[in-house]
Amino acid sequence: MAIQSATIDLDFDRHHIWHPYTSVTNPLPVYAVSRAYEVFLELEDGRRLVDGMSSWWAAIHGYNHPVLNEAVVSQLQRMSHVMFGGLTHEPAVMLAKQLSELTPQPLQKLFFSDSGSVAVEVAIKMAFQYWAALGETSKNRLLTVRSGYHGDTFAAMSVCDPVTGMHSLFKGVIPEQYFAEAPAPRFGEPCSDEDIADLRLKLEQHHPEIAAVIIEPVVQGAGGMRFYSPDYLRRLRELCDHYKVLLIFDEIATGFGRTGKMFALEHAAVVPDILCIGKALTGGYMSLAATLTTERVADTICSGNPGLFMHGPTFMANPLACAVASANIRLLCSYDWQASVLRLEAGLRNGLEPCRVLRGVADVRVLGAIGVVELRKPVDMAIIQKQFVDRGVWVRPFGRLVYLMPPFIIRDEELGRLTAAVCDIVDSLP
Ligand SMILES: *Cc1c(COP(=O)(O)O)cnc(C)c1O
Repeated sequence: MAIQSATIDLDFDRHHIWHPYTSVTNPLPVYAVSRAYEVFLELEDGRRLVDGMSSWWAAIHGYNHPVLNEAVVSQLQRMSHVMFGGLTHEPAVMLAKQLSELTPQPLQKLFFSDSGSVAVEVAIKMAFQYWAALGETSKNRLLTVRSGYHGDTFAAMSVCDPVTGMHSLFKGVIPEQYFAEAPAPRFGEPCSDEDIADLRLKLEQHHPEIAAVIIEPVVQGAGGMRFYSPDYLRRLRELCDHYKVLLIFDEIATGFGRTGKMFALEHAAVVPDILCIGKALTGGYMSLAATLTTERVADTICSGNPGLFMHGPTFMANPLACAVASANIRLLCSYDWQASVLRLEAGLRNGLEPCRVLRGVADVRVLGAIGVVELRKPVDMAIIQKQFVDRGVWVRPFGRLVYLMPPFIIRDEELGRLTAAVCDIVDSLP
């Protein structure tokens, strides 16, 4: 089962520690990593894997990057943390300035939090407080689309896909929201009246109760790895304005270049009222997220009762995380990252295209530095995980989806190893 390890007590891990979405009574094997650098994960047994996941899409510059290391070390020597209530510091102010420049101009007010799920909670709370301040207390529900993913806390869960998010299990615990069909037109296709008919209907029927629409722009990530038409977002913005509903974009997975634009919203040139970012913000070094909003939303919230925004995490704007995020953004802007993502896009397209004709494959799609092979049947995780590791790559599929989201710094040769492993292993599936 578990890989032999010299120093990491895998037996203890197996019996005591929950890994994401796992059983502690019958866990699947986990692999002990002793070191990570560039695009490589080094296992305790000495094997070296090419990382195709960027540690859940976060490590855009790979591991152990000298520039990011230096940012952490020099901040550590000043202070690792101070409370943000009543105090502030250079890393937070610097990062907020960078983010306000990088994101669309109207998004000038920013709230730092410690994870993507919390950034989504904060966005939802902003929307509710906005309408409450305007006396619209019946606007306390959300509308979203199917196949979305927005995090694991209860309010965030309530807008995840109801089937893959297991809403039936949490009935009565998570708030019930409205769901429209997942966006149908593919990336590059136009969006017809029919494509937004369900969304329009839900808004028409329920807008007096709806505070906001929340959606992942252009790419639906963990809810299905679907790429859809930016045109859909333009239509959605018009509908939200027409029905007086706020629009929240969750760019936690798509932000910082992954889709070929700095933010996926740039594909549509649409500005939301509230924007959530996380994951790649710190280049995968530490947990940090942020929720940005417009002056109009912020000012309205603060004009209502109690005149404050009601949120304040203990580790808000952690200086180490802010410092490394700041360095990560400077690093990203210091080279032609768009050329890197285009190179990855071409490599993923060429490398994964041969999968299309394979028996078990339903679809192959690539956008920016995201490559997806959609299968007809769900994979057996225990088997496929070992096959990838034995091939010297780290790929972690879910359900019917085998996907690659490598660090932007990956070399063509290593990218080729990833795509070849995907093709061969998908080809060998029973
Ligand atoms: C990962 C993710 C989240 C949740 O972020 P966590 O840091 O895991 O809490 C929310 N929304 C999207 C789109 C994500 O990809």
